[in-house]
Amino acid sequence: MTTSNIFRLKGSIQEYDWGKSGSSSLVAKFAHAAAGQDFEVSDSRNYAEVRYGWEHTRKDHLCFDDAQISLHGLIMSSPRSFLGARLTGPSFDRKHFVGDAKFSHTTDVPFLFKILSISKALPLQAHPDKKLGEKLHNEDSGQFVDCNHKPEIAVALADGFKGFIGFRDPKLIAKDLLSVPELSEVICHDEAIEKFVREQSKESLKVIFTKLLLESPEFVSSAVSKLIARIERQGASATGDNALAADLVQTLNKQYPHDVGVLAAPFFMNLITLNRGEAVYIGADEAHAYLEGDIIECMAVSDNVLNAALVPCETRNTQTFVEALTYTAREPQHWALRPTSYKRSKKGRTTAFDPPLEEFTVLWTQLNGEGEEYLENAEGPTIGIVTKGTIDFEEQGPDREKLTLDEGAIIFVKPKTDLVARSNTDDGEVWWATCAE
Ligand SMILES: [Zn+2]
Repeated sequence: MTTSNIFRLKGSIQEYDWGKSGSSSLVAKFAHAAAGQDFEVSDSRNYAEVRYGWEHTRKDHLCFDDAQISLHGLIMSSPRSFLGARLTGPSFDRKHFVGDAKFSHTTDVPFLFKILSISKALPLQAHPDKKLGEKLHNEDSGQFVDCNHKPEIAVALADGFKGFIGFRDPKLIAKDLLSVPELSEVICHDEAIEKFVREQSKESLKVIFTKLLLESPEFVSSAVSKLIARIERQGASATGDNALAADLVQTLNKQYPHDVGVLAAPFFMNLITLNRGEAVYIGADEAHAYLEGDIIECMAVSDNVLNAALVPCETRNTQTFVEALTYTAREPQHWALRPTSYKRSKKGRTTAFDPPLEEFTVLWTQLNGEGEEYLENAEGPTIGIVTKGTIDFEEQGPDREKLTLDEGAIIFVKPKTDLVARSNTDDGEVWWATCAE
């Protein structure tokens, strides 16, 4: 196994309340090939994620054919051959990726790669930047087990992904504040609301958003009930003709009754919709809450998350969340991450989603008909998942190792390995995460 340049990994299937149920979940569809034939899909369970790559427990991501061998164990046995010279070399700043004394050697893939199948909103959250990550870790290493940042990208696997990302145009927030009395009631600070409506500055936005999120759950609950009753009676005129907000308030309230997120997300944040192959990049300290759809997600290795709503109160870090945010309002299109051509693709069938980070690039290989792609070797580790068709992978070295993988199966490619991918079916597709440069 350790001498192979390409081999199968076993993914880890995560169940969360927000995952799609039973066989309607893309995660369940991929579970057999990702996690093993003995995986049983039950219609009463919610399949939220398949995960690959770094895992803080380091127990998951076993080699598919030999459950005694973990990816982490393999890397430990020969870091340079599995991670490449740059990640393991003496000039590499290890702190940059993992920062924590606990991880003093680079023996991890620098990214976590996932497929998410979402039927209801994920927690309203933000991920700290490295400076805040370090501070939180020093203050509470039980909750913040590492001190890294966790920027993430999401790419839609199907049309119609929806998620809340970042603050809306302050003019639109101000308009809603004046039209929806329940918002002023919860914020309960007329002077601060007037100041925000007048100035629309980051500072004044922070004051009112903080007041909203830190208000007592009882107070929030009564305002949400009143607003829901008015929307039921008056329709969109209850929200100053903001029909989208009226709709989102009802949707979120069904999912998380009386939660403060029912007010915070629809009135303060952008709703982003992505079609298949469209992506967003979310940097540090930006609020987000995915709402529905199937996506590829990739992030830097960290468990640092600050939750503020759409999650039980005891797991919130609202004070730190409201302090961390940038409060920069942006147009929805600001969040788009445009695909570019991938320079290591020889046949032009692979596009790259390359965020402004060193940790990872996500690649999308589309093989239509009898299509073939030749991918030249990357400097770092690469993990791929087949999301359509049956694909033959052939290493372009002296050994010519081969693997044939079905939908959901995962391949690990060592650095410095050239690879050809061929489709056996009409429609083939592979998504990759790589640490290329
Ligand atoms: Zn996130």
